[in-house]
Amino acid sequence: MPSLTTLVDFLDTTLNIHGIPDYPNAVNGLELENLGDVTRVATAVDFSSATAEGAVGQGAQLLIVHHGMFWSGVQPITAHRHRRLRTLINNDVAVYSAHLPLDMHPDLGNNVLLARRLGLQPSGGFLRYQTIDVGVSGECDIPTRLLAERAGDLAAEFRGTLVTTPFASDRRTRRWGICTGAGADSRSLEEAAQKGIDTLIVGEGPHHSAVQAREMDIVVLYAGHYATETLGVRALGTLLTERFGVTSTFIDVPSGL
Ligand SMILES: [Zn+2]
Repeated sequence: MPSLTTLVDFLDTTLNIHGIPDYPNAVNGLELENLGDVTRVATAVDFSSATAEGAVGQGAQLLIVHHGMFWSGVQPITAHRHRRLRTLINNDVAVYSAHLPLDMHPDLGNNVLLARRLGLQPSGGFLRYQTIDVGVSGECDIPTRLLAERAGDLAAEFRGTLVTTPFASDRRTRRWGICTGAGADSRSLEEAAQKGIDTLIVGEGPHHSAVQAREMDIVVLYAGHYATETLGVRALGTLLTERFGVTSTFIDVPSGL
C-alpha cells in the first residue's frame, strides 16, 4: 500500500508537474493532503461536490482531477465549498490536480489520447502556451466524416453530442490539430491557419469560433469539453493501478458541455 507521499512524488515526476506553466488557479500538484496511505484512487475531470462525494462513496483516499479545487479563484469556504471540503477532510481524502501537465503529456495527455482514439498519429505540437505546446497536430488522409463519427462516439460515451461546422460529405482531412477542452478560439484558429490545418478537433468553443472557422475554410469538430478531458485522468488511474496495485475508479459526472 503506497503512502500519499509516494504517489504524489510519482505523479509530480511523471507529469513534470512543477516544470510546466499553467493558469494561476490551476494549482497543479497536491491541493489537499490526507493523513496516510492510499489503497483506492478516484479520478474525475472536475473537482465538485459530486466528484468529492463520489470519491468518498468509492472509499478512495485520493481524488485526482483535471480542473482542481481552486479553479474559480479565491472564494470564502462557505455553503457548498464548506460542505465538500468537510466531506473530504472527514473522510481523509486527499486531492491532486493536473491541468496543462496532463493536457500535454506525450503518453498520458488528453490531446495525444484523443488523437489515438480518432486513429490519428501526431507529428507535431499545436496551441502554444508560454513555453509549451498544449495540443498536437499531424497529417492524414481521412474523410472528415469518419473523424466526426469517431469523435461523435466519444462524445456519446459521456452523454455529450458532437457539434461540427458544416462540411461536404466527401471532404477529406489532410492536416489536423487537436486541443481538448476549450480549444477553439481566435488564437487557436489563427495558429491552425498558419500551420495549414484544415480540421480542428476540440472540446468546445464560443459561437464566433465557428463563424471564424468557416471564413478560414477550417472545419471544427466540437467533441465536448468534458468528454475530451476524461482521457487523461482515466489513463492516470490505470497507470497507478499497474504501478502501485491501488484500485482506481473514474467518477463520471458529465457537465453536459
Ligand atoms: Zn478543461
